[in-house]
Amino acid sequence: MGEARSIMISSLGIKVVQPSSSCSDPYCPYHGHLKVRGKVIVGRVDSLKMKKAAVIEVEYSAYNSKFTRFERRSNTIHVRVPSCVAVNVGDLVAIAECRPLGKNISHIMLGRVIV
Ligand SMILES: [Zn+2]
Repeated sequence: MGEARSIMISSLGIKVVQPSSSCSDPYCPYHGHLKVRGKVIVGRVDSLKMKKAAVIEVEYSAYNSKFTRFERRSNTIHVRVPSCVAVNVGDLVAIAECRPLGKNISHIMLGRVIV
């Protein structure tokens, strides 16, 4: 893919495009002082209409015992986007859990996932 700049998120096997530019955002996991802990989730960007935030759709499968098969379910998660991380709607991205940054935001965008 020609993307040499990438990091491997510890032992999860998820490769993420690293930001190409620096930023002065205090809530940036790369250049700021925001601590990342908890879950790392992979999802798709649903909306970028909020300022410095995005809506991510996360799909998972749940077993349906009546029809003895799995069904697709999805959740939406609101996530903060640091100013150095560039994503578009529809991108497959990785997000990480952090402390609550707003009423509905406790995740930070790490970047586009390299498949
Ligand atoms: Zn940054």
